Amino acid sequence: SDRHELDALQQLVDSFEPTDEAVEFSDLPLSRQTLAGLKSAYYGRMTDIQQRSLPLSLKGKDVLGAARTGSGKTLAFLVPVLEILLRKRWGPQDGLGALVISPTRELAVQIFEVLRKIGHQHQFSAGLVIGGKNLKDEQDRLSRMNILVATPGRLLQHMDQTLGFECDHLQLLVLDEADRILDMGFSASLNAIIANLPRSRQTLLFSATQTKSVKDLARLSLKDPEYVAVREAG
Ligand code: ADP
Ligand code: MG
Repeated sequence: SDRHELDALQQLVDSFEPTDEAVEFSDLPLSRQTLAGLKSAYYGRMTDIQQRSLPLSLKGKDVLGAARTGSGKTLAFLVPVLEILLRKRWGPQDGLGALVISPTRELAVQIFEVLRKIGHQHQFSAGLVIGGKNLKDEQDRLSRMNILVATPGRLLQHMDQTLGFECDHLQLLVLDEADRILDMGFSASLNAIIANLPRSRQTLLFSATQTKSVKDLARLSLKDPEYVAVREAG
């Protein structure tokens, strides 16, 4: 049954040591749904940032990940989004379980497309909150979503104005391209968003660079994080 399968998976995760040599996605303790999604998108071998961060994030740790553009950060956070919610038996009635914040609409759409590509075997509902469309249309669908990919300005607008939009049970927060979010002047919005989220959650923060403002944000949003930096390939 599903329950036995998830119990067995959780045991594999618990006994998995981040020092274990995992090179392929299939070396990690992942659900058959996620493995099938990755396989259907022809993802086999992990990139460096994936190899170094997934063993930690899959065990529920907060991660501060630094790696250049193009290094594969999207899967480094979307795989844990799917796995953490699955292992917590997240369902339609549980509301928002994971929130991914991205600096721009274009990047949010790209993340959403990767989520659809690797998440098709899962049952979660997922949505985009990026503005540019009718606020009402977004509002109606929002309360039913398990996973949201959002830009900071629009997300804050919903937190302020959308009745029934609740983040009280959020399990996982992802801040993608944190350096760009801050460069774009969203620091105050981000702080207001984080203030609306439950404190007991997992947080993954990814950034191409480690500026002072990223470190300040990390101090504010992460709990006892593991720091994973991947150096520029030579
Ligand atoms: P970043 O967010 O770090 O800029 P992306 O997540 O956008 O990087 O990934 C960059 C490119 O690498 C994308 O085209 C993606 O499909 C590809 N990619 C990511 N992970 C893998 C992998 N494990 N194997 C092959 N290609 C990958
Ligand atoms: Mg990216």
